[in-house]
Amino acid sequence: MARVIVVTSGKGGVGKTTTTSNLGMSLARLGHNTLLLDADTGLRNLDLLLGLENRVFFTGSDVLNKKCKLEQAIIEDKRQPKLSFFPLCSIHGSNPSIIGEEVEELISMVSNKYDFILIDSPAGIDASFQNAIRMANEAIIVVTPEVSSIRDADRVIGILITHGIKNNKLLINRIRPKMIRNDEMMSMKDIQNILGLPIIGAIPESEQIIIASNRGEPIVLEKKLSAVGMAFENTARRLEGQEVAFLDLGNIEAKNLVRRVLCKFLVKKPKEIK
Ligand code: ADP
Ligand code: MG
Repeated sequence: MARVIVVTSGKGGVGKTTTTSNLGMSLARLGHNTLLLDADTGLRNLDLLLGLENRVFFTGSDVLNKKCKLEQAIIEDKRQPKLSFFPLCSIHGSNPSIIGEEVEELISMVSNKYDFILIDSPAGIDASFQNAIRMANEAIIVVTPEVSSIRDADRVIGILITHGIKNNKLLINRIRPKMIRNDEMMSMKDIQNILGLPIIGAIPESEQIIIASNRGEPIVLEKKLSAVGMAFENTARRLEGQEVAFLDLGNIEAKNLVRRVLCKFLVKKPKEIK
């Protein structure tokens, strides 16, 4: 049976879909059969981040309405055959909603075929959030080091626990070490102390994420992994149960700064340390 993990947050726009696509691709690259389920029925964009938008013809809703077979709605990634994508319902059409029992039925149909099912959920206050968490036995709560994100995450953790999901971990996204050093941003330790949950991943702020998203290529597909790609891959390894130390993001940032200054004197375009 698959480990069913919901990727969620309190606040919107903190990086749930980015996390789902990169973690999913990493888990598949590590050899696990992985299914990514898009349960954010309002802002469905996991297909875009995976570059699979042109291959979505059917959805989970169509499977339940007997418009197609299950295999027709699940899309296998051509770059990584251990990764598949399953949109729950269409963003087009008059009634894109899907109810909790239906989500439950769909996940039951697929759970014995995969090692991991990652559910990209809407933020914790949206109506369809309850559907997304229904079949999950674990949760990754994505937070950014901002007070609003942390306060909202706290509420969501309370809801998850009320629904019996007790295996919860934090993924801190968009970390800027320089701001932490200057006391302008909360540190990982501060966030962990406030929310009282273990940290499974620490991802730096990176322009490369935006470029990768626009290309529809998860950043962990790069030939030579950047710091952010490595941070996602390390998160996948921790999910597997490996003990992996957190990257020294401050050190990577400092080395990039030195390189930029040197290149300015040499009038060369700086190359970021990967
Ligand atoms: P959510 O699914 O929580 O709404 P997304 O994954 O769609 O959030 O991310 C929201 C925006 O933030 C996107 O434009 C994405 O490219 C950007 N983003 C996410 N993580 C990072 C990061 N570590 N560094 C820079 N930009 C990021
Ligand atoms: Mg999203």
